[in-house]
Amino acid sequence: MTRGVGATPHDKGSPAVRVEGLYVGRFAPSPTGPLHAGSLVAALASWLDARAHNGRWLVRIEDVDQPRCVPGADTFILQQLATCGLHPDAPPQWQSARSSLYQRALDQLVAQGDAYPCACSRKDIEDAHAAQGHARERHAALPYPGTCRHGLHGRTGRSWRFNVTDFKPKQPIALVDHAWSATYSVADGMLQWRDRRLGRQQQQVANAVGDFVLRRADGLWAYQLAVVVDDADQGITDVVRGEDLADNTPRQILLQQALGVPTPRYLHTPLVCGDNGEKLSKQNGAQALELQNPVVALSQAALALGLPAVANLHNICIPDALAQWVAAWRRNYNGPP
Ligand SMILES: [Zn+2]
Repeated sequence: MTRGVGATPHDKGSPAVRVEGLYVGRFAPSPTGPLHAGSLVAALASWLDARAHNGRWLVRIEDVDQPRCVPGADTFILQQLATCGLHPDAPPQWQSARSSLYQRALDQLVAQGDAYPCACSRKDIEDAHAAQGHARERHAALPYPGTCRHGLHGRTGRSWRFNVTDFKPKQPIALVDHAWSATYSVADGMLQWRDRRLGRQQQQVANAVGDFVLRRADGLWAYQLAVVVDDADQGITDVVRGEDLADNTPRQILLQQALGVPTPRYLHTPLVCGDNGEKLSKQNGAQALELQNPVVALSQAALALGLPAVANLHNICIPDALAQWVAAWRRNYNGPP
């Protein structure tokens, strides 16, 4: 049966594993440079959401893509967070130290028949699309055409992919919360979930991205796998992150289901744009945060999140400002009173 839009937010059969009252959130920066105004918005949002739920807030350094990491950026980011009064409730974790967990997850997926080796280079994939008459839109990633899904035919595997196309979940998605919503329809491959800010979302993963990479040809772990394994391992109940990552969510929910781990709730925050109208990012040259007066930087982040300005901005201390925003966040995002 296809579950259409408007279905009840949870299936009777869905196991809910959320322990009532427990909340674990996280901020997961990539150490490719210092925090900028956009990444502070994501950091502040995840911290406020955890505090508004009387929960725990963890920091995870997402450094699986080692060639892109800048030495010392991790330490600098942790200092920036501390300067802003955003202190994690446990020591930070580094993804680069967790390869054995990712390998175990890949082994499980391979054993289940949910992952397969792929011999294709980027050019092979482009050629396969060209042969089928698909034009490539500028900057658009091409969905994987499925060349190696049913065997390498004598070629040598370079990467590992998740078999979205043939994936048939054995049970409904296990949600951290009964009042949450995510469903996958095998009939049409449509994954639907409800984002706490964006509302109802959906994606046909097989059509939109195809069988996606779990381990890259260069041996590095793909972001999707590392995030899912870490969120499960750290017991994350709520993912609060920038809206640019929203379209990763369906892939991550499918991986959670394949690995038999619970699906957290998701809230994607507004992006901060620079003067050129593009999203602020390290790639397009966002300036490092000016933290001589951290309350001012925090206040700009709070405004980007739709929170009210605090009075006496230049005289208020960080904990008092944060406390005002926690109260405002609770009103906006339905935390406990
Ligand atoms: Zn291939």
